[in-house]
Amino acid sequence: MLLGAPGSGKGTQAEMITRHFGIPVTSPGAILRRERDLGTELGLETADITQHGGLVSDDIIVRLIEDWLRLHGSHGFVFDGFPRTIPQAESLQNILARHRTPLDLAIWLDVSEKTVGERIASRLQCQGCGFTTSLSSATFAERPVCPYCDGPLVRRNDDAAEVLKHRLQEFNAKTQPLAESYQKSGALRRIDGNRDREAVFGDISRLIEQAA
Ligand code: ADP
Repeated sequence: MLLGAPGSGKGTQAEMITRHFGIPVTSPGAILRRERDLGTELGLETADITQHGGLVSDDIIVRLIEDWLRLHGSHGFVFDGFPRTIPQAESLQNILARHRTPLDLAIWLDVSEKTVGERIASRLQCQGCGFTTSLSSATFAERPVCPYCDGPLVRRNDDAAEVLKHRLQEFNAKTQPLAESYQKSGALRRIDGNRDREAVFGDISRLIEQAA
């Protein structure tokens, strides 16, 4: 699992892990954004919470994860942005026990507030496929379009400065305590997430190879 503050690079690293190791990834945040864009009941029900930087109820998130696991089986997976609360971590423990799968790694991406502020302020995301990039790397076109699917690159509505503040409060209050819990279980590995994506991925790859 990948844990860390908003903007710590979880989504970017999850995508690199999938591409390099072929391990499927699930991200409740990405699922909820897609549901919202599709206008499904789940998307509409949770849009107000995500838009304001709150956390969606543990029940809904755990159901999403269980559905995803049913579809993707149990030959290894990466969680990006799950669990985010102690009750979610407890549910995950039961889910993994049922799948007879141990938790190999809880990777914590450490980032400074400065890094988070800079990354979120310049983050662009494709409305079509979810590809994430930044304002500075998106200068390849006069109009910001996705290099993969030609979809429009836009700012996420929860990346506004006021909303980010709330997301960070939620992270500090509800997600930070997970570090201690995974430290105790021996699964936690901290990585300096302030570096460029390749440097961070180098460390993550080594951890995955050692755990294999
Ligand atoms: P980030 O890590 O950049 O904050 P995500 O894309 O992972 O963003 O999540 C976006 C939003 O989706 C969160 O702010 C929250 O509202 C909701 N969300 C995602 N994962 C969870 C979770 N495990 N529990 C509760 N809410 C979640």
